[in-house]
Amino acid sequence: MPKLNENYQNLKESYLFVEIAHRVAKYTEANPDKKIIKLGIGDVTRPLEPIALKALHEGVDAMASSETFKGYGPEQGYDFVRQAVVDYYKENGIAIGADDVFISDGAKSDTGNIGDLFAKDNVVLIPDPVYPVYVDSNIMSGRQIEYIDANAENGFLPLPDKNVHADIIYICSPNNPTGAAYNKEQLKAWVDYAIANEAVILYDSAYEAFITDPELPRSIYAVEGAKKCAIEFCSLSKTAGFTGTRCAYTIVPKELTFKASNGEDMSLNSMWNRRQTTKFNGASFIVQNGAAAVLSKEGMAQCRENISYYQENAKIISDMLTKKGIRFFGGKNSPYIWFECPNGMESWEFFDYMLNNIQVVGTPGAGFGKNGQNFFRLTSFGLHENTIEAMERFDKLF
Ligand SMILES: *Cc1c(COP(=O)(O)O)cnc(C)c1O
Repeated sequence: MPKLNENYQNLKESYLFVEIAHRVAKYTEANPDKKIIKLGIGDVTRPLEPIALKALHEGVDAMASSETFKGYGPEQGYDFVRQAVVDYYKENGIAIGADDVFISDGAKSDTGNIGDLFAKDNVVLIPDPVYPVYVDSNIMSGRQIEYIDANAENGFLPLPDKNVHADIIYICSPNNPTGAAYNKEQLKAWVDYAIANEAVILYDSAYEAFITDPELPRSIYAVEGAKKCAIEFCSLSKTAGFTGTRCAYTIVPKELTFKASNGEDMSLNSMWNRRQTTKFNGASFIVQNGAAAVLSKEGMAQCRENISYYQENAKIISDMLTKKGIRFFGGKNSPYIWFECPNGMESWEFFDYMLNNIQVVGTPGAGFGKNGQNFFRLTSFGLHENTIEAMERFDKLF
């Protein structure tokens, strides 16, 4: 009989989106004539940019003749795509090396798989509320998790506590689910803390393209010293609408080395390279061809059109919350709007209240951690007309 990884018994049932779907289905069954507007899930709705479609088609055409056919590619990604990431960072004023870049099929897989590089015996620091992948992947490996509170008092942007030691720190900025984004000074506090603790920061910048405030850093490498302590995960899912197309990139700087117990230096870049070449066979050539196209200047200009569309939705939602005097976070440098449930309601109570009275579906904050108990997440990824109608209904709710 195989001995199982019994850490799986320690996972909480991931019931958030299942429970939402269940409650919506039940309501629809009882009220088939009511139109439900969904502003809950974190998935995009705009079609791909023309430049992406063209490059994806060209990728398919390349497969049609033996001269241009592509079989297995480099596990780390094609050089032209790694270089496109380097050039994209350069546009944002940040210098990284092409061999620090690893192309993959998603940031969810990379943030989940990165744990392969670390022993079980580490203190992992994770903010609450949080994107569930960080928590569950560490529980699967049996690691000890310390939570740090993100709450209204700290603007959902917790800063390091010098009295608490951590070895591995997860940061997501702009944040899912709270929409809060760290400024450079705050990120520097984390980098300084990581260096003082000889810790590593796992930085998820999946929403960097939604940053409009030029003062806010779009990469942790905007902070001096970060290359010595941080891995950055980014994805084209939200930037370019690639949630169904699948392409992401992870930056593991060669400066990132730690002493092993035998005194030898170990490089996280070499380890990740070894991990990927062993367990991953590269993202699809066709998709990478599309990725390089959207990472170009022209591609990013097209991406920004879609992002502006979502940002208008975010403004429609934010304006309504402001009008109602409801405290909220995000919505400005993020597609998410995270607000306090009115009249002291708890998030699931508010979920039912909205569903029953105005048929608008969002995500209860409690699903992301204990600090989300009285908060609610709406996304700007819906259609304009639906967002407008949802807010008109919301206006009549109170
Ligand atoms: C959407 C999202 C991602 C992107 O994941 P992919 O696997 O690349 O689609 C990464 N991190 C967070 C926090 C997200 O919300």
